[in-house]
Amino acid sequence: MSGVFEFIRDGGYEQVVFCSDDQSGLRAIIAIHSTALGPALGGTRFYPYESEEEALVDVLRLSKGMTYKAAAAGLDLGGGKGVIIGDPKRIKTEELLRAYGRFVETLGGRYITAEDVGTALEDMDVVKRESRWVTGCSNTYGGSGDPSPVTAYGVMMGIKACLLEVFGTNDLKGRTIALQGVGKVGHALCGYLVKEGAKVTIGDIDVDNLARAVADYGVETLPLSEVHKQEADVFAPCALGGGINDDTISEFRCKIIAGAANNQLAREEHGDKLRDLGILYAPDFVINAGGLINVEDELRGYDRARALARVEGIYKQLQLIFTMARERGSSTAQAALDHAEERIRKISRIRLVRVTEFGPLSTH
Ligand code: NAD
Repeated sequence: MSGVFEFIRDGGYEQVVFCSDDQSGLRAIIAIHSTALGPALGGTRFYPYESEEEALVDVLRLSKGMTYKAAAAGLDLGGGKGVIIGDPKRIKTEELLRAYGRFVETLGGRYITAEDVGTALEDMDVVKRESRWVTGCSNTYGGSGDPSPVTAYGVMMGIKACLLEVFGTNDLKGRTIALQGVGKVGHALCGYLVKEGAKVTIGDIDVDNLARAVADYGVETLPLSEVHKQEADVFAPCALGGGINDDTISEFRCKIIAGAANNQLAREEHGDKLRDLGILYAPDFVINAGGLINVEDELRGYDRARALARVEGIYKQLQLIFTMARERGSSTAQAALDHAEERIRKISRIRLVRVTEFGPLSTH
C-alpha cells in the first residue's frame, strides 16, 4: 500500500503497529494517535473489514477520536485503538485473542486496550492473561464490568446540563425526550430519565429491545422514521453514528440533541447548521465519555462510587463548552474540538518545561 507514511504523518499519529500471527490467524492493527496526555487508551474493534486499507483508515480515525474524548474529559490519557480483521463470530478463538494480547504487551503500556464492537468483557479477560495493559474486564478479574450503564449515567447528567442552558432549570420532571436506540446504553438511560419524571418515547429497529424497555419502564414507542422528527425538548440518539446529516438536519423538531451515539454529525458543518437552527447540540465525545472515565478508573483500582462521581463531571464539562461556544460565537461541536486541542497544547507544554528543567535524559 503506497502513501501509508504520509497518511500517518499528516494525521499527526505517533505509531501504527501491524500485528500478524500465522498460527492463530490474527491480523490486527494498533494505532496510537497521541500519548501527549498519557498512555493511549481505546477499545479493540473486531470487525470483518472488506480490505486492509479499510481497517487502517478505521483504526486511525477511531484512535484520533479517543485523543479528543480523553482530552475533553480532562483525563491523563492519550488516544489509541486496535482493530482485529475478520468476523468475530467465525474466527474469534482463545489463541487469537492471546496472540493479540502479546502484541499489546510489547507496547509496554503505551497502548491500553478495552472492549469495543465485536469484543466483550470475556474477551478482555482472555487478553489480560497475556498483557497487563487491559481494562474493561469482568468484575471477577478486578475489572469494572459493562461500561454501558455508566455511559448512560453520564448522558443523563449531560442532558441536565443542556436543560439548564436552554430552559434555565435542569429538572427532568415533565420534559419530553425522544430516545433513538434502546440497546445497552439507551435502555439504562431510559431508566434514569423515567425515574427523574421525564416523558420518554422510544424507537428501535430491534423489537425485542423495544419490548424490554416498554415492559421495564412503561414508555411509549414511535415508528422508527419518526423518532428524530418528534416534537420534544430533547432528541437523544443512542443508536448509530451519522444520524445528523443532510437528510435529517431540517427535520428536527427538538430544542436539544444529546445522546450517546458516537460520531453523530455526518460532517463537521452539521454542527454549525444546528447552531443556526437554534438547536443545542451536546458534542458526542463529551457527553458519552462516561464509559471511558469508568475504564480509566480501573487503572487506579476500580471504585464504582468514585467512577460515578467523576462521570458527574460531564455536567460541568458541557457547561464549559457551552460558555466557550457563546463567547467565541462558534458551534458547540467546534468549541469541544477547540477545548480538547487547547488542553493537549497546554498540558504538553507543561511537560516540555519539566523536561527542560531537568535537562535531557541522554547527556552521557
Ligand atoms: P447497542 O448495540 O447495545 O445498542 C444500539 C441500539 O440501537 C440497538 O438496540 C439497536 O437495535 C438500535 N438501532 C440500530 N440501528 C437503529 C436505527 N436505525 N434506529 C433505531 N435504533 C437502532 O449499543 P450501545 O452499547 O448501547 O451503544 C449505543 C451507541 O453509543 C453507539 O453509537 C456506541 O458507539 C455509543 N457509545 C457506547 C458506549 C458504551 O458504553 N456502550 C460508550 C460510548 C459511546
